[in-house]
Amino acid sequence: MRLLTSDRLAAFPHGFTTRAGGASAPPWDTLNLGGAVGDEPLRVDENWRRLEAATGLGFARVRQVHGSRVVRVAAATAPAEEADGVVSVARGVAACVSVADCVPVLLADPEGRAVAAVHAGWRGTIELAAAEGVRALEREGAEPGRLVAAIGPSIGPCCYEVAPELAERFRRRFGPEVVRGAPGAPRLDLWRANLLALEEAGVRAERVDVLGRCTACERETFFSHRRDAGRTGRQVGFIAPAAGPSVAHWRRPGEGPLP
Ligand SMILES: [Zn+2]
Repeated sequence: MRLLTSDRLAAFPHGFTTRAGGASAPPWDTLNLGGAVGDEPLRVDENWRRLEAATGLGFARVRQVHGSRVVRVAAATAPAEEADGVVSVARGVAACVSVADCVPVLLADPEGRAVAAVHAGWRGTIELAAAEGVRALEREGAEPGRLVAAIGPSIGPCCYEVAPELAERFRRRFGPEVVRGAPGAPRLDLWRANLLALEEAGVRAERVDVLGRCTACERETFFSHRRDAGRTGRQVGFIAPAAGPSVAHWRRPGEGPLP
């Protein structure tokens, strides 16, 4: 199994899965974590067991509907509740979203317990799902200015061609910098748009890591819904609360590091 991580989130158990390390056959090879994409359920279950074993985490998942609702979880759960963002405050329970071109955004409060994972396709991006993730962490006591975040692998501005009408909506909402390419064949930069959405919500740009990995370009590494015309698997982005600052605060002067 090969998980991508972000230095910005080093204090938190987190990652973005790749295709490597799973049990599924083509075109879901091999670490498909999507349950409703045509793959054999037993293999998907095995893939989840492997991810749980590799990380030591439970995963709180939702039924993603391209909206901006965020739910707070206290335990691992299979996708049932409709939402596109998950907040976890429970140690060992990862907030988790699944993607195959859409943008996974991970957020964490370095001075608190709460973490969030948000799923943002073009619809979630323009509806500011990432900002809803920030507001959900504010409800847990976080200050937006101290949050750290990572914008994970998704279809990039190199590949994400869209209709001119949609490009125009993005240009009006976020400015010209989120649209690339020729006027007749515009491409969206969802990474930039989500970064701007986070900044509008009070997150500092220098605390956001944009991984810049394109799911459509990197065939060996990622599933891509568009590249594979829908017959493909799902990767996930996840983050769990750290041991927490409370551990450091409990340590008395002179005590060594905890095991
Ligand atoms: Zn690309």
